[in-house]
Amino acid sequence: MLYFDHAATTPVLPEAADAAYRVMTRDFGNPSSLHTLGKEAAKEVEANRSIVARALGCQPGELYFTSCGTEGDNWAVSLAVHLGRHKGKHIITTAVEHAAVLEPCRHLERQGYQVDYLTPDHTGHIPAEAVEAALRDDTVLVSMMLVNNETGAVQPVAEVSRLLKRKKSAALLHTDAVQGFLKLDFTPKSLGADLLTLSAHKIGGMKGSGALFIRNGLRAEPMLRGGGQEKGLRSGTEATPQIAAFAAAADYGFANREAHIAQITALKAYTLEALQAKVPGLVVVSPGDAPHICAVSLPGRPSQVVVRYLSDKGICLSAGSACHRGKASHVYGAMNLSKAVRDGMLRISFGPSNTREEADALTDALLAATRELVAAGR
Ligand code: PLP
Repeated sequence: MLYFDHAATTPVLPEAADAAYRVMTRDFGNPSSLHTLGKEAAKEVEANRSIVARALGCQPGELYFTSCGTEGDNWAVSLAVHLGRHKGKHIITTAVEHAAVLEPCRHLERQGYQVDYLTPDHTGHIPAEAVEAALRDDTVLVSMMLVNNETGAVQPVAEVSRLLKRKKSAALLHTDAVQGFLKLDFTPKSLGADLLTLSAHKIGGMKGSGALFIRNGLRAEPMLRGGGQEKGLRSGTEATPQIAAFAAAADYGFANREAHIAQITALKAYTLEALQAKVPGLVVVSPGDAPHICAVSLPGRPSQVVVRYLSDKGICLSAGSACHRGKASHVYGAMNLSKAVRDGMLRISFGPSNTREEADALTDALLAATRELVAAGR
């Protein structure tokens, strides 16, 4: 099985699996319990918070564990509009955000908020000037992702933060950094983000685990009310195995970050060069600024058919975000691509375990796909 879908999810790292197993079977206490096992569990959650915070470059007290990136994005949006409730009802976001940001924004629109969804150019980028043009006195939230999950485009989040400061805007800045964490060199401070979302399963941790960075000084609203865990902001017994795995993956990824980035950057460049040289008609729609994601198209060849063909040959990649489950991608739809290019879009996303031999096999399989699917009239 050749796996080129690391933007959808990653295999759990052995270090992360070991940590989760230990916490599930041996150090399984409830961090709220007063006995030794509970106290040890509470200590470990805090140690793991410090590890993830170090990898992100923030204070441990600014990180709140969540059940996933989707929860972090939902929480960030609702928190920002709550804090801005006396200032206005205008939100700026982009048309290429993950559904975890878009859907809460649409929900708020139905409740009387006005939302500007900024559209990208044909490369998937949104300039900071577009935010400047949309900014209003009553804007309470700007939500712009750091790395797009379907194109690998890096958005100018730090520039937007400087713009908000220059304009003395009261709007909070949220960035969904799910695809950027450990792939780019940034901290919440270097981006100027007030709120920042992470997800564990994109870095070798477990699914069902993530974190939201909430800048010190923001008076946050609870996401879940109940027993008062996570300083009263996100009640619910801490998911100690997932948190342990998240920290182990973040620690490993942080220690090896530069080597991994160099490796996947080189492998992506190698793959794109080979694909362009060998697969007739293939278009590189987005080489991706981020090291691990790129998007190509075989115009006129429906991507679902190609993805299935490759899957039958043991190769996993995606026609876009895994969340679409076959629906047309809103990201590629927003990029003003021709229908033929849009219909043939393929996202290739790399991880540190991918090799040149695997990339060669992918190129050969795509070449075979173009020939066989033409022969079959598809
Ligand atoms: N944001 C981005 C950019 C993503 O790629 C994803 C996952 O696909 C999410 C948010 C949602 O994360 P999770 O799957 O942990 O809910």
